[in-house]
Amino acid sequence: MICKTQNMCPIVMKMLFMEIETQSVWAVASVGPGFIAPYIRQHGHGASFLRVLPDMDMRDIICHIEKHAPDILGFSLTTRQWKRGAYVAGKIAKIIDIPIVAGGLHPTFLPSSVSESGAFDYICMGEGEAATLELLNCLESGEKIYEGRIPNIMLKRGAIPELRPPFGRIDDLPFMARDLLDEKHGVIHMCTQRGCPFPCTYCAAGAIDGLYKNTGYVRRRSVHNVLEELHEIRRNGELNYVIFLDDTFTINRNWVKEFCRAYAREFSTGFSINARAETINQDMIGWLADAGCSHIVYGVESGSMHIRRDVLNRPADNQCFIDVFKLTRQANILATANYMMGLPGETSEDIEETLSLNDEIAPDDFGYFVFYPYPGTKLFDICLQNGYLPDNYPEFPSDDSQSVLDMPDLSKADIKYYYNKFTQVHKSA
Ligand code: SF4
Repeated sequence: MICKTQNMCPIVMKMLFMEIETQSVWAVASVGPGFIAPYIRQHGHGASFLRVLPDMDMRDIICHIEKHAPDILGFSLTTRQWKRGAYVAGKIAKIIDIPIVAGGLHPTFLPSSVSESGAFDYICMGEGEAATLELLNCLESGEKIYEGRIPNIMLKRGAIPELRPPFGRIDDLPFMARDLLDEKHGVIHMCTQRGCPFPCTYCAAGAIDGLYKNTGYVRRRSVHNVLEELHEIRRNGELNYVIFLDDTFTINRNWVKEFCRAYAREFSTGFSINARAETINQDMIGWLADAGCSHIVYGVESGSMHIRRDVLNRPADNQCFIDVFKLTRQANILATANYMMGLPGETSEDIEETLSLNDEIAPDDFGYFVFYPYPGTKLFDICLQNGYLPDNYPEFPSDDSQSVLDMPDLSKADIKYYYNKFTQVHKSA
């Protein structure tokens, strides 16, 4: 047993963020630690990063941790990552005496179930910068952390904590720690906003504003601040392409216009965005194209008007998507459509309508995902209330290719059939 708490007089707390990979390695690591690391560094603590690859066994993991010699481990967990994260954390806790904290979307929306796993000493709910700093300061000073002592921080098997108000202006945070994002070849990942003001029933980005009781979680950086970060990246290394990770880059027309004009003046680097078709028009496509936007990913989700309007709270009609994809193509911007299947209330006919809409909009590429009800969303509550979710649902990580739901109108076998059909269409496209 290695005893980290026997360190003599540590000057700072060194936090090691564990990036848990499941089936494959993602191009960019979680952005949460990318924000938290520079904030705690600014206040005198240390931060480093370890990608826990899918094929890494516990001996390797322990060996890597020992090389970093951290004082605390941080796991940023989505629903995809949480089961393996809890397994790895539980094993580590048996070998190394070190505090372990879990944060991210899954612990934020299902804190009790993550805490019940017993693998984590602390659960961080919501925004992590100020909460993590306070936790490190308490641990460093040896202060006893009692129930409710640190807003946002839940103790193991403790009560749900109060949330502190959102941080304030994102412009006031330090730029993301690039060394924690594990970017390659000068492909840079940027976030210009937190949260989303739209009420889509399936999306945690919208749900987190509800968690904060609509008290200002949705915020956007100034154009100046975003460009400053890009200038700094270019000064310090390669800047070959920018992927804007914001769930919906096109929320605010004036911001997009100002950004595109300034970006076109100062950069000639291509970039991609995620967009909501309902927020796009010909002018905006023109600004984006002139600024160097080369790829837009649209969440179309379903070709059934009934599903979009009554289940997803996306009342735009099919013509809106047809027009936006046409405009995007005309501007020589690649357009990707993302679809879901296996939604509550969906029938085989609805999924056939999605396939038909895909034919009509003819995207350059499309992604297709079996619906998973993310904790915190309205559809999660609906699935729970209707008994569609198994009792032990937290045991099931999200899976893009098969459904976790038992629904009356669409069986798991039907959903698998359509997933395979989408695969065939994708291969032949
Ligand atoms: S799906 Fe897109 S538009 Fe809807 S809440 Fe989520 S991020 Fe916002």
